[in-house]
Amino acid sequence: MPYFVVNEKCNGCLSCVENCPASALDFNDRDGRRTLRHNMTKCARCGQCWRICPQEAIEFQHLLVGQWDDVVTLDLVHCQVCGEPLYSTLYEQNLAGKLNSTTEALCPQHQQRQAASRLPLIASRKAKK
Ligand code: SF4
Ligand code: SF4
Repeated sequence: MPYFVVNEKCNGCLSCVENCPASALDFNDRDGRRTLRHNMTKCARCGQCWRICPQEAIEFQHLLVGQWDDVVTLDLVHCQVCGEPLYSTLYEQNLAGKLNSTTEALCPQHQQRQAASRLPLIASRKAKK
């Protein structure tokens, strides 16, 4: 769902385009059709288009409320002990390629525990030497 939304009352009069102080509205006439266009990066959310539209066609609340758009969804690797999400499988593959080895999937807490559990073993090996 785009931010700038008009309802079925829009008749393409272009009053909104002509009165937008931020040049955030534009139009395209092609193949016998008119397309009203909006650029969110330019829009100041001032409401001028909404106030001036003779048709009351602009649903300005969309501009005010906004929304989060999903950009990409990736599979995740989880900590093999507690199941906490760690990083994406693609990130893991990239890392493994750079390190030329695979890493154990552990969250920081379980990495620490595993490191701590290895310490006495190392110490006892040193003591035997
Ligand atoms: S001013 Fe209203 S009716 Fe005219 S083009 Fe803009 S949205 Fe459509
Ligand atoms: S809210 Fe203001 S800046 Fe955004 S399109 Fe409407 S008139 Fe232009």
